Amino acid sequence: MEKRYVLTPWEVKGKIDYKKLIEEFGVKEIDDELLTKIKKIAGNLHILLKRRFFYAHRDLDIVIDEYEKGKKFFLYTGVAPSRSTMHMGHIIPFILTKWLQESFGANTYIMVPDDEKYWAKKGDLKSIREFAIKNIKHVIALGFDPDKTFIFLNTEYIKHLYEIALPIARYINLSIAKATFGFSGETSVGLIFYPALQIAPTFFEENRCLIPCGIDQDPYFRLQRDIAEKFGKNKAAEILSKFLWGLQGPDSKMSASKPETAIFLDDDPEIAKKKVMDAFTGGRATIKEQREKGGNPDICCVYQLYYILFEEDEKKLKERYTMCKLGNLICGDCKKELAERVARFLKDHQRKLKEAEKKIDKFMYDGKLAQEMWNKRFKIV
Ligand code: SF4
Repeated sequence: MEKRYVLTPWEVKGKIDYKKLIEEFGVKEIDDELLTKIKKIAGNLHILLKRRFFYAHRDLDIVIDEYEKGKKFFLYTGVAPSRSTMHMGHIIPFILTKWLQESFGANTYIMVPDDEKYWAKKGDLKSIREFAIKNIKHVIALGFDPDKTFIFLNTEYIKHLYEIALPIARYINLSIAKATFGFSGETSVGLIFYPALQIAPTFFEENRCLIPCGIDQDPYFRLQRDIAEKFGKNKAAEILSKFLWGLQGPDSKMSASKPETAIFLDDDPEIAKKKVMDAFTGGRATIKEQREKGGNPDICCVYQLYYILFEEDEKKLKERYTMCKLGNLICGDCKKELAERVARFLKDHQRKLKEAEKKIDKFMYDGKLAQEMWNKRFKIV
């Protein structure tokens, strides 16, 4: 049967069959047993895990087993600076990463690949770096521990990254790179080298690396897992998420290039409210029909936002689902409530953004982990 979606590290389009991706990518589903173990250690479970938005993994079970035996792990994720602002979809891996940092005391490394965006011709280097700093402020505002987090721009940290990327690149030939990423004759040689750089931080520590990311990023780390043992190092573990729908419907994705599809962290809270009020819902054409037949929360973008980010209380979430199905809840009221919650979140985030500005140096240069990383010399072979 013809695939109805496109999924690469650069492009996500169409209706994604997440179950099928598990088979296609050879990853494992996060099951109840694993969640119970995580809950036992962490004391609770983040809703992104509990509600299976992060739904698949590679070796997360090993990470947790090793942790139980006293072996630490570290976290690695990133943000690509292609736009000046980030949307709600962009922050989901960071929300889970922050929870994992707090729950397991893990060091956290955040790559900002300005080089990749430049090679991908997403702007001139000066504006890409300006976007990068704005993105970094948003990440800091989410509340990471400044002494356990190192955020780095690739073009600044390249001397260190290069020491690790050098031997990695030796093991990736053009055929492997083409087969993994679909590079063509038009691809810049910078982008062809870039996977070696994206893989490099997985070797920052001797401990095992755990990467929270969207499932589209898996090809990079599949490659890491193919070569790690050649250096006598750990294979990276991954915890993989689905994608947040765009505001236009379940087959859409929040996209920075289509403002109507996304709630941006910089959006004026009043504009964001309007976007929520205009979002696609599973409601009926008229209130009368909705009262008679009920709505469909399973295809509703509003319900999805409650489910993933804006309703932590299981009982209240279930009540909303049932009320919608029975026709006891009307979309206008349901949207209005979400719009208020989104506006509150944005006001709070934008207030923290002002504080984040003052903390940039700590995360990038002079916090405890940042200093260690600038003084570190790597030698993986
Ligand atoms: Fe969606 Fe709420 Fe309308 Fe149900 S009532 S379809 S959950 S907006």
